[in-house]
This record gives sequence, C-alpha cells and structure tokens, in this order.
Amino acid sequence: MTTSHLPTLRFAPSPNGYLHLGHAYSALQNERVARKLGGQLLLRIENIDLDRCRREYEAAIFEDLSWLGITWQEPVRRQSEHFSDYACTLEGLTERGLLYPCFCSRTEIARVVNGSPDWPRDPDGTPLYPGTCKHMSADERAQRLAAGQHAALRINMDEALAVAGMRLGWCEFGEEDQPRDITAEPALWGDAVIGRRDIPTSYHIAVVVDDHIQKITDVVRGQDLFNATSLHRLLQALLGFDAPRYHHHKLLRDKGGEKLSKSTRAKAIRSLRLEGVSPIELRRRLGFA
Ligand code: GLU
Repeated sequence: MTTSHLPTLRFAPSPNGYLHLGHAYSALQNERVARKLGGQLLLRIENIDLDRCRREYEAAIFEDLSWLGITWQEPVRRQSEHFSDYACTLEGLTERGLLYPCFCSRTEIARVVNGSPDWPRDPDGTPLYPGTCKHMSADERAQRLAAGQHAALRINMDEALAVAGMRLGWCEFGEEDQPRDITAEPALWGDAVIGRRDIPTSYHIAVVVDDHIQKITDVVRGQDLFNATSLHRLLQALLGFDAPRYHHHKLLRDKGGEKLSKSTRAKAIRSLRLEGVSPIELRRRLGFA
C-alpha cells in the first residue's frame, strides 16, 4: 500500500523501445534519492502515445529494471488508465478561458513563421505559435468544432500568467543535493499545446496530473526536461496543485556528445545483459557502486 506521507518518487519511462543506459542512470538516480529521503519509488508507464507504445516493451521494462535490482511500489501506474482525468482537467482549463482550440496544421504555422528568420522559438526549438486561432470568433470556433474539425488545445499564455498572478519557481536539487531556488519562465513556451490534436492529453498535462494524483514529492528526471518544468509549475499553479521538489540530473552522452536516446540507437540494457555484463558492473560503470 502507498503511504501518502512518505517522500514519493517515480521513474516514468515510455514503453516505445528498450531501456538504454540513460534510463538505467535515471532509474538509479531515482533509487538513490528515494533511499536518501527514506521514501518510496513508483513506476509509471508513460504510454499516452498508444500507437508507439507496446506491451512487449512494457514487459521488457519490468524485466530490465528487476535485473538491475530496482524495486518499486506496486501497483505499476499507467497513463493509459488516466485519459479521463486528463480530459476533465483540459475541460476545466478550457471553461476557465485558459485554453483555446487551435486548428492550424504545422504547415500553416510554418507558412506564417518562415517569413521571419528571427521568429522566436521555445526551449525545444519549435517556433512560438503566432496566435492565429487565438482571436477566432466564438461562432467560427463552434462551427468548426461542430463540423468535426480536430483541434489541439493551446494555453493562452498571457491569460494564464495573469491568473497565476505570482512569481513561480521551484526548489531544484540537481545532482549535488544542494537546494536552490529557480525562477520559472513559462512565457518561454508561448501558447504551447496542452491538449494534442491526436490524443486528448499531452506530455505536460499528463505528467502534472499524475504527479498530483500519485502525490509525488520529488521528481527525479533528466536535465532535458528542466525547461519543461516552468510550464509544469504554471499548470500546477492554475490547477491548485502542490509543487514537488525537482532533481534534474545530467544526461549521458555518446562519444559525439549526443544525448543517449532510442533514436541515436543507444546501447540497450538488455544487450549489455546478453554480453554478460552483471548488474553490479553496470551500476559501477554508471557511478553507483
Ligand atoms: N516519460 C519521460 C521520458 O521517458 C519522462 C518524463 C518525466 O520524468 O517527467 O523521458
């Protein structure tokens, strides 16, 4: 049983490929911080992308983590079991005028922004949304939705910042376990997509809702998500959720300096297993003697 007052962490992989060394490092960081805090570790399967996620990869996650000696609190959490929570949350934010439907395709957005070489971009490099659908009349919106046109839901950033109404930040521990205050900068994301067109959620809303439902006190994840935390803090403020503490850890890189990822064909934990590497040896290689 989950005891809610305990420091609670989660390791949250997506089952769209085999876990690689970068995941092993992140899982071991979660284990380390959980032990240090005397807390518990949950395993959350982030499978909102139903097309790309597969049961066999999920089974491989359990197998690889168990081999590595990582233990987690049962039951395993799955994002696919929370689509209705995400939908309710999106509906609430939309009713409050904080989200608006956006019918633009990528090509349409590119047409607007490509004319300006200095068009501002979000921390992931995506051009900020030019706001085309923000000023659409209520009638046109209703007509398009009634005609079955699919829309993404974008945050009205100006409105959201005004409603949140305060300086947002978070307590960051990094890897050195020294707390420091970080000022959140959600405006860097502009009118970001919070509800995708293809599925009724997004990484951002799913992670914020899950961290709340699962009473996560400490989020331990890679540095690549550091900037997304600004947006998560804004959503938490709008939804009246408490902020967890954050520990963004370094990313493992390959020889060329690229972050390890499924797309760069990072070495899978199971290939190392097959090569005869022991869990102790792998822990040692990653700095967890
Ligand atoms: N599912 C994300 C990943 O595999 C982790 C998200 C998070 O920890 O917030 O990178």
